[in-house]
Amino acid sequence: MKNVLVVGGAGYIGSHAVKMLKEKGYNAVVYDNLSKGHRQAVRGMEFVKGDLGDKKKLAAVFKKYNIDAVMHFAAFIEVGESVKEPARYYNNNIVKVISLLDAMVENGVKYFVFSSTAATFGEPVEAKISERHPQNPINPYGQTKLMVEKVLKDYDKAYGLKSSVLRYFNAAGAEDGGKIGESHTPETHLLPIILQAASGKRDSIKIFGEDYPTKDGSCIRDFVHVNDLSSAHILALEKMFRTNESDDFNLGSGEGFSVKEVIECAKRVTGRPIKVEAAPRRAGDPAVLVADSAKAKKVLGWQTLYNLDKIIQTAWNWELKRKY
Ligand code: UDP
Repeated sequence: MKNVLVVGGAGYIGSHAVKMLKEKGYNAVVYDNLSKGHRQAVRGMEFVKGDLGDKKKLAAVFKKYNIDAVMHFAAFIEVGESVKEPARYYNNNIVKVISLLDAMVENGVKYFVFSSTAATFGEPVEAKISERHPQNPINPYGQTKLMVEKVLKDYDKAYGLKSSVLRYFNAAGAEDGGKIGESHTPETHLLPIILQAASGKRDSIKIFGEDYPTKDGSCIRDFVHVNDLSSAHILALEKMFRTNESDDFNLGSGEGFSVKEVIECAKRVTGRPIKVEAAPRRAGDPAVLVADSAKAKKVLGWQTLYNLDKIIQTAWNWELKRKY
């Protein structure tokens, strides 16, 4: 049985990946400082409270649990915040990650799955973004993730550290049982905010920009279910174990929906009214981000099982039942 350390495993995507690792027969150990993550999201797993930048603690954990691979989810992820507070982003998303990678190299842990992002591409020059699309990020969040991608290439050449770079488009939804799901404080992400407006937890949803060059003026994004992302992590890990090679994959559904379309879909799925307000553009947002995930499908045999309706249904189920 392989042992996988999931750094940030108490967070949104990390906790779903942990659940799937367990279902697929891996031994997952969760490592999280709980600055953003939730203890309740770690269910029946070994848990170590620790910081990404704590090399000593990581070295001890690598030895104690005989770790074969690391999945890294412990990042700051908010585009708008990264524009306002870049120092925190460069420190957490680059400096501390390099220290994690060094701890891996020093302790002979050879495999790394890295959560990267569509934000590394910047404004698209093609309708759908494949792995070959130029990477020119337009916000500090995207810069931090791109920089680590470059570090990983050099660490592979110099130290033989193998990595799978997974560039998520817009992660959304929750596991079907409603026991774990998306919970950020404050919440800034589109779908949870829409659903909080539907449940009455907030008054309305602001649409950030209605003057983008898109069909209805609002931004277009590609939503991909968190379980579909989790399955890609496991497929990428298995491919890395098999081939001992680094690789990169863009993960999205391949279909774009505008902010306004997502709101309409949420009205239909929830059966609730949702009040909207117009608001100025948010700094750092590209108009359109849609994935070309042909490579993940071909090389990993990856499939997405959730369309936008299902994504919203699972997120709504979570919103109604959530305990954290
Ligand atoms: N958005 C919005 N209102 C909100 C939150 C988000 O209009 O209250 C828009 C945002 O400007 C972007 C899209 O929804 O165009 C997705 O934003 P989110 O923060 O969910 O994800 P990101 O694309 O930044 O990863």
